[in-house]
Amino acid sequence: MRKKIVAGNWKMNLLSEEAFNLANGVSEVLASVKDVQLIVFPPAVFASSIIEKNQGLNVGLQNFYPAEKGAFTGEISVSQVKNIGATHVLVGHSERRAIFNENESFLKEKVDAALLHGLIPVFCCGEPLEIRKVNTELSYVKQQLIDSLFHLSAEEMMKCIVAYEPVWAIGTGKTATVEQAEAMHKAIRTWIAEQYGKEVSEEISILYGGSCNASNAKELFACENVDGGLIGGAALQVDTFITIAQAF
Ligand code: PEP
Repeated sequence: MRKKIVAGNWKMNLLSEEAFNLANGVSEVLASVKDVQLIVFPPAVFASSIIEKNQGLNVGLQNFYPAEKGAFTGEISVSQVKNIGATHVLVGHSERRAIFNENESFLKEKVDAALLHGLIPVFCCGEPLEIRKVNTELSYVKQQLIDSLFHLSAEEMMKCIVAYEPVWAIGTGKTATVEQAEAMHKAIRTWIAEQYGKEVSEEISILYGGSCNASNAKELFACENVDGGLIGGAALQVDTFITIAQAF
């Protein structure tokens, strides 16, 4: 059965006290949103303390390097992510693709490394505006899935979460309409079904991301194929994040 999930990507925001307060605030309301899984993705420097202080809260890392250890100055290994007790990792976020040049084959390596270490990859896909303008968003997103995800076995695939995040909607205040979101989510589920069968496609949560907030979450989450959200800006305040988590 598809899980309802609301995940907060804090990006490179907040200082320690703010991050710990936000994590505490989210922890305090965990019990009131029992049927929704909450995940927070704090900046890596705070992740370990947040995990220690907030039992029961799913904490993921926004980034990692897909190797065990070695001469990769400045990077965090996949085994270190697992070692601190993180449960999830973001893979393929458009900011990592665009700013840090993470390409399809590198993302494929990251997905594999995460799964090998028992971490759940939240695989982000989504088209830039120029692709949406020429109506080729479906084939663009399908190719992202083929390139970095569809090499997985059905068993591995079932462990993944997919997040559809149209690049033009991220941090812009310009949310996809419910029709645009549902059309893409339905297409993604159909491609997964074609590749792995209907049973697998019905197990995988597909989240929407891109200026999702307390005012529009309800209508987005009401879409048949939208199983929750990956939230950026609106995840930085406890109240807003919780309102979104309660929007199902
Ligand atoms: C994101 O960065 O994953 C995101 C969805 O950001 P925002 O909600 O701010 O658009």
